[in-house]
Amino acid sequence: MTPQARPLSARIHLDAILHNYRLAKRAAPAARALAIIKANAYGHGAVRVGQALAPEADGFAVACVAEALELRESGIRNRVLLLEGAFSPDEIVLADRAGLALVVHCQQQLDWVLAARPERPLECWIKIDSGMHRVGFAPGDFRAAHARLRGCPHVAAVHAMTHFARADEPRHPYTANQVEVFDGALQGLQLPCSLANSAAILAWPQTHRDWVRPGIMLYGASPFAEAVARAAGLRPAMTLESALISIRDLAPGEPVGYGGRFVCDRPMRVGVVAVGYADGYPRHAKDGTPVAVNGQLTRVIGRVSMDMITVDLTGLDNAGLGDRVELWGRRVAAADVARWSDTIAYQLFTSISRRVPLVYASG
Ligand SMILES: *Cc1c(COP(=O)(O)O)cnc(C)c1O
Repeated sequence: MTPQARPLSARIHLDAILHNYRLAKRAAPAARALAIIKANAYGHGAVRVGQALAPEADGFAVACVAEALELRESGIRNRVLLLEGAFSPDEIVLADRAGLALVVHCQQQLDWVLAARPERPLECWIKIDSGMHRVGFAPGDFRAAHARLRGCPHVAAVHAMTHFARADEPRHPYTANQVEVFDGALQGLQLPCSLANSAAILAWPQTHRDWVRPGIMLYGASPFAEAVARAAGLRPAMTLESALISIRDLAPGEPVGYGGRFVCDRPMRVGVVAVGYADGYPRHAKDGTPVAVNGQLTRVIGRVSMDMITVDLTGLDNAGLGDRVELWGRRVAAADVARWSDTIAYQLFTSISRRVPLVYASG
């Protein structure tokens, strides 16, 4: 057994990720799917997640060459797309050697690709800015960019892609507007297209086209309200769990933790859990944030500290030292904890810190 300073770990359920990938494929049956495993697979461990999905995944996408090379070094041979393309001409050399596909989102990247001398033709995905207004070619510039890449002897397949700003708002018209802008930019050109992130996979079937790009849904969190995640059949892929390391009974009027944010309003039993913001638990979790002790739902009370949080054990008479506490997972939805902390599950997952061991479970 490896020495472990604390009872805290993030259990990663690889079979849940595979289940969620299949669910994305079933939701968009005519499309192929790039599993988005950037940012260390949203904190779940990119190599392990990549290896678990590799036998089935049509491809992967990551944010940068370093993330892609880690996959290649672990033996993953599937298609890998660099979502922001190359950050310098040198990276095109690296992408060529490792057989990576490149997003081309601006004129400078286009020039780098055209000037490159790759050993094998490069696969390029031209990004169109259909309304996110972050990166991508203006719709009116797409055809010229496409023509230059199509005419380049060392460019292989060319794809077109875009990204949605508001696909997680199923009733908002902005996504339909973006689709219209995207289709207008293509003006009937026939090339493989990719538009949909998780939210669009689940809510906007008209966006599925040739390639979908599931990210957060692979990890079992919905981009919408939690009720939708369960209804969609998503399975949580991370269980952040720890244990009770202290229990005390406090009288009415006694404050708990830094700043005395929470004050007991009756005789209360308070438990201390070994997890804090230095592990990635959100420091802004409010009093009332859900947490499960021995599978029973209760709440965070008092400010989150660096290494500890305090929870309400009043009425949980069986709770004892060493008992298991789930911060999020199957009992407590990460999206709910996120809502109570004014953030999103994406940030919770990607904030799990280095000192939290990832433990791979096959159940
Ligand atoms: C991160 C990312 C995705 C995945 O988005 P989710 O909301 O996690 O599904 C898809 N496409 C691009 C371009 C991305 O950067």
